[in-house]
Amino acid sequence: MSDCLFCGIAEGKGKANLIYQDDAVVAFKDIVPKAPAHVLIIPRKHIVSVSDIEDQDQSLVGRIFQVAARLARDLGIADSGYRVVVNSGPDAGQSVFHLHYHLLGGRQMTWPPG
Ligand code: 5GP
Ligand code: ZN
Repeated sequence: MSDCLFCGIAEGKGKANLIYQDDAVVAFKDIVPKAPAHVLIIPRKHIVSVSDIEDQDQSLVGRIFQVAARLARDLGIADSGYRVVVNSGPDAGQSVFHLHYHLLGGRQMTWPPG
């Protein structure tokens, strides 16, 4: 999608250094980190939110979680623990309308989230 911030980043046009990429998924550091480790993992495909995931996206979503686990290992937070969060819609505070998974770690998390 031409005017989508995260589509641009996936194409290498945005202000983000990709720390992981394959044919379907890319990951990059959040520009305003909310934890010592804060990475965004996105599909290259423009999907607006969790509500827009289709049957044919099932393996893509599975791949994103595998990438999250791999990056958690690479970032050294696999053993201490981490959170994978997706904000979907207004009440959750979604601000970029291209599906993205926050990988957060490196500090003690609180529960429930605010
Ligand atoms: P949301 O609020 O939609 O769940 O998360 C959007 C995230 O994208 C926020 O944590 C925000 O800091 C991050 N973000 C917004 N614009 C950019 C950008 O241009 N580059 C990077 N790396 N992160 C961004
Ligand atoms: Zn997009």
